[in-house]
Amino acid sequence: MGNQKAIPVTMMACVLHGKEDVRLERIAVPELQPGDILVRVEAALTCGTDLKVFLRGYHERMIQPPSVFGHEFAGEVVASDNGQFSAGTRIVAANSAPCWNCYFCELNKPNLCNDLLFANGAYAEYVRVPARIVEENCLTIPADLPAAKAALVEPLACAVKGVEDVAIQEGEKVLVIGAGPLGLMLARLSVLAGAEVTTVDDQSDRLAVAAELGVTNTVAERLSAELLERLRDEYTPHKLGFDCVIEAVGKAETWNQAVELVRPGGRVNLFGGCPRGTELRVDTTRLHYDEIRIYASFHHTPETVRKALEFIATSQVPAFTLVREGRSLQDLPEVLQEMRAGAAPPKTAVLAQLPAGVRLAVEELEAFVG
Ligand SMILES: [Zn+2]
Ligand SMILES: [Zn+2]
Repeated sequence: MGNQKAIPVTMMACVLHGKEDVRLERIAVPELQPGDILVRVEAALTCGTDLKVFLRGYHERMIQPPSVFGHEFAGEVVASDNGQFSAGTRIVAANSAPCWNCYFCELNKPNLCNDLLFANGAYAEYVRVPARIVEENCLTIPADLPAAKAALVEPLACAVKGVEDVAIQEGEKVLVIGAGPLGLMLARLSVLAGAEVTTVDDQSDRLAVAAELGVTNTVAERLSAELLERLRDEYTPHKLGFDCVIEAVGKAETWNQAVELVRPGGRVNLFGGCPRGTELRVDTTRLHYDEIRIYASFHHTPETVRKALEFIATSQVPAFTLVREGRSLQDLPEVLQEMRAGAAPPKTAVLAQLPAGVRLAVEELEAFVG
């Protein structure tokens, strides 16, 4: 094949060995199974899930050490055993794909698939995309779209599903609790749906990003009983509560607060995942007499993956407002520690081609990735 570049036998990759143990190692470039593609990673993005996996050392469904990890990436196909993509094509792939064979897939709930196939390995020079993901959740990206932007597709696809599930309407008052990366994306998509969005988070630097994304009101405080009342008083008609509240923290306390902040007849999306066994207590009055509707969205679908790419490619979701720095693959362990300390931007682009120790600010990142 004319444009097929020579593929080395080994590559640099970050390998998770267990709890807080990630090492940069030289390992074999993955071998392809039938239908797979091999992608040269142009950019991988950090994610809260990766931090969770790093701190815990494993993930029940997604990753058992020792393993390559990282799951948000975009890059160039360098080898293909799949007719859909040839070498030289630039793609973004989601981290999973449904089977389309199980009960839930037949119900058209592919995010609940019994047999979701997960892939990892984005923190490396090359990543293998398994055949099923190639077929279901791998998309060609526009030539002028930097991979560090395109790689936002996977988390954004989760946010697209979250906002669609509660069907936000023009002019509604929406409250987003939490301004982590997903809270920020949920807020942006609510703004795009025409809502007047309020975001509450106790970290003011995160709220500065929310304001850049078009959020109308930002409240830099910890949610207390007193603040609940003030939010209702100041930001909602007749002080009755928000039309829709989206919880993007993942704690029992904020799940409860979200339920308290919605108006009668309104919708709540308890979007942030809590640890297994966490319980929610709800006054039945809220459900019956107030007719509030409670939703909780999990993961993404092939449809929301496609919509997410559209939002990024058209800059309706300005990816570099979220991805605010570029770091070397070699610095990943340090980046994870910074995330843990709360000292990292919403998203960091991890770039294999960047020398160790280099820290690209967002303007430099823009120049670096073209
Ligand atoms: Zn992620
Ligand atoms: Zn399935």
